[in-house]
Amino acid sequence: MSTSACIFCEIARSSSSSSTRLVHQDDKMVAFQDINPAAFRHYLVIPIQHIPTVKNLQRGDEHFSLVTQMLNVGKTLLQLEASQSNVHRFGFHRPPFNSVDHLHLHCLALPFMPSWKYIKYTSMGPLGGFVEAEKLLEKLKPL
Ligand SMILES: [Zn+2]
Ligand SMILES: [Zn+2]
Repeated sequence: MSTSACIFCEIARSSSSSSTRLVHQDDKMVAFQDINPAAFRHYLVIPIQHIPTVKNLQRGDEHFSLVTQMLNVGKTLLQLEASQSNVHRFGFHRPPFNSVDHLHLHCLALPFMPSWKYIKYTSMGPLGGFVEAEKLLEKLKPL
């Protein structure tokens, strides 16, 4: 997939064709509201660099620190924007369950809305489509 055809690359570069409001922006990542929120608050944190999916992440400093930073941005966002909710969930969809082929961390402040949406954002074990950020970090942590 060419990066010019990637909607999340356009958002990350804040190109004029994107009307998405960024709630966080730094030299490595941006964050914005999920267009189809599944919970009380639902943000996405994406790297500016085009990384297609979790399958493209490798164990080592580079990706471990990238995902750690993404998680920190997400945690800070939910602390600021969803302090009423004390259940926060962070994770990624494994292909083919991901919606867009540009790595994105789902940051959810529960409750799920509507409640059945939990299915899409709950780890169902090794076959499940959703991997929690902390679990992914264990796999990326430098040995
Ligand atoms: Zn992209
Ligand atoms: Zn997703």
